[in-house]
Amino acid sequence: MNLFDNTEIAFSLKSDSELERAYFLFRMIQNQPMVRIGTAVTNFALKAHLPVEGLIKYTVFDHFCGGVTEGDCLPTIEKIFTKNVHSILDYSVEGKEDEASFDDALAKTIKTINFAEEKKSIPYAVFKPTGFGRFALYQKISEGKTLNTTEREEWNRVVARFHKVCKLALDKDVPLLIDAEESWMQNSADDLIEELMEIYNKEKAIVFNTLQMYRHDRMDYLKALYLRAQKKGFYIGMKVVRGAYMEKERERADFKGYTSPICKNKKATDDNYNTAISYMMEHPKLALFAGTHNEESSALVMDLAKKYKIKSGDMRLWFGQLYGMSDHLSYNLANEGYNVAKYVPFGPVRDVMPYLIRRAEENTSVAGQTSRELNLIKTERKRRRL
Ligand SMILES: Cc1cc2nc3c(=O)[nH]c(=O)nc-3n(C[C@H](O)[C@H](O)[C@H](O)COP(=O)(O)OP(=O)(O)OC[C@H]3O[C@@H](n4cnc5c(N)ncnc54)[C@H](O)[C@@H]3O)c2cc1C
Repeated sequence: MNLFDNTEIAFSLKSDSELERAYFLFRMIQNQPMVRIGTAVTNFALKAHLPVEGLIKYTVFDHFCGGVTEGDCLPTIEKIFTKNVHSILDYSVEGKEDEASFDDALAKTIKTINFAEEKKSIPYAVFKPTGFGRFALYQKISEGKTLNTTEREEWNRVVARFHKVCKLALDKDVPLLIDAEESWMQNSADDLIEELMEIYNKEKAIVFNTLQMYRHDRMDYLKALYLRAQKKGFYIGMKVVRGAYMEKERERADFKGYTSPICKNKKATDDNYNTAISYMMEHPKLALFAGTHNEESSALVMDLAKKYKIKSGDMRLWFGQLYGMSDHLSYNLANEGYNVAKYVPFGPVRDVMPYLIRRAEENTSVAGQTSRELNLIKTERKRRRL
């Protein structure tokens, strides 16, 4: 039997009624028109202050999020740690554009670094660049435009927030993942994170950037970064993912008439992803966080770990999945002794909606096929004779 086919291990922490709830949820979100209409109606209802938060909370939110506060997530974190699956507290509030919200996100990230220092179950902290600064500001710098005095001061505050969390991460010895977002704002974040790696990654990888391998330019970027790191003597930490904003990227490129930065098809993305993880594992001074729900890529990482004699508990190699998804990877990998962590999102229900919508869209049926999650749940229901 394939390691990842073991649904008994995958769902060992789920009661029958929890499994039934997941079955109901994934059957609903498998339906593309339903997700499209549901998303529009929910967004409208939230804007109109209609009382829909309870409904969202007891369905998608509870499945994909750990709670509203970091404290709410602790029972989940402790529970999944009984199976050696770690957690990464992910403050998933998105789309805020004011200084108070950026300072809030900074405070949350500091808190999660302190949590991680105390708890063996939490190996990393994480944040999003646009949690600490305005999207348009990142974009302006990425486009090479000159900032005015006010914007320069604003950017200095963004940079100071990054330094604050990186310094704390170094002091507390808690590695810090930084998410990647849309390509048209990412260059400025990449440049800043490289500067931070140079400062804080002298002894090992503390600061991790993210590579989205659905972008066809990312292998060249990684190789050039590696050369600079070798020259300057710093470690590279990378979370490697496929990328979550494909439709948006393609639509913008189409609309503006430039070549899409996204690989031409799924196979090209898969190949690009596998090339990146192979490159990372065959070069020294690179630490890999493989953020994926893809079985072949996960199996490849395991094979490469064997090839390069990287022991399953080696801190330079982690597997990551999102809470509420791909438990067949997380629990079976953890059962084999690999380092595995789940992103556990938290935040007020209405503020994590963009995150929840991405998850729903990711799990809708492609070309009429049953989604991966639904298939796994079906297999486990059959095994339990539900
Ligand atoms: C721990 C963790 C952290 C993450 N952090 C980030 C992050 O910081 N930034 C971010 O953007 N995403 C992030 N993601 C989401 C991730 O990018 C993917 O959306 C998600 O994991 C699905 O990809 P997969 O590797 O699991 O594999 P699969 O499910 O096998 O692949 C699906 C992915 O393949 C790509 N794809 C699908 N169809 C095509 C096509 N026709 N042409 C080209 N490419 C295609 C898309 O990227 C799609 O998401 C994270 C995921 C995890 C598990």
